[in-house]
Formats: sequence, C-alpha cells, structure tokens
Amino acid sequence: MTKEELMRKAIELSKENVENGGGPFGAVIAKDGKIIATGVNRVTASCDPTAHAEVSAIRSATSQLSTFDLSGYEIYTSCEPCPMCLGAIYWARLDKMYYANNKTDAKNIGFDDSFIYDELELKPTDRKLPSEVLLADEAIKAFEAWAQKDDKIEY
Ligand SMILES: [Zn+2]
Repeated sequence: MTKEELMRKAIELSKENVENGGGPFGAVIAKDGKIIATGVNRVTASCDPTAHAEVSAIRSATSQLSTFDLSGYEIYTSCEPCPMCLGAIYWARLDKMYYANNKTDAKNIGFDDSFIYDELELKPTDRKLPSEVLLADEAIKAFEAWAQKDDKIEY
C-alpha cells in the first residue's frame, strides 16, 4: 500500500469509530506498505482514558510482534497525536509518523489536546495540575537497585 492508502485506512477507521460510538480517531502501524496493526479511540467504550487510537495501535502491534521496540515501523494517525500518544510513539521507537488532522482541528471539535502542549511549556509550579516532590530519598532506592543490576533488559 502507498502512504496515502495507509492514511486513508486510518481515516476510514476514524469514521467507522464515530458510527461505533467512539471518538473520531484511527491509527495504522505499517512496515513496507503492509499493515501490522490498527487502533481506534476506545476511551468511553473501555472506560480507559489512555485508549487513544495511537496507543491502541501500538499495544496491538507490540503484542502481536512480542516486542516493545517498533523500530522499522511507521504510524499513520488520522490526527496529530496528543502528548501522551506522541510520547508513546517515541517510546515505541517508531521510525516515522504521518498525521492528517492537526491539534487545532481537534480542539475545534472539543478535543483540546493543545492545552497539554501548552502546559508542558510551563514550570511544574505554574501548571494547572498541582504537583509536589514527596519521599524522593526513599524512591531513589529502586533506581539504585536498577543501576546496579547486571542482567537488566534495557529499553
Ligand atoms: Zn492521544
């Protein structure tokens, strides 16, 4: 499949998902023009705020391939990813991302992911989410254990 055909598949999934009661988002993970996995937004159906199309597609691909590393694969998403999904795409080490609608298009229909991008620009103390450091001296013990572990699987 061409990149346009792969994106059309992501768009088709986003349209179908509206009919199925989900949000208008679809994603496809592919390699060499072949679809490996797809995902749609199932936040309300699954009562899972992390069930965005891109995260769903990544979970499906990694589960099928039994790997946490999607190097060599590309993602086609019907909308520019939110910061959570963008982070997931980096963590999955996908080679390239294609998107169609952008975050402003999403904001215009009530999916305001752009405010999280705005929040990331602020110092933690200036964000809407209150946060404070607690028990760092106790938590560091797990990091020290990891740093000293000889047989760890790095990722
Ligand atoms: Zn997302």
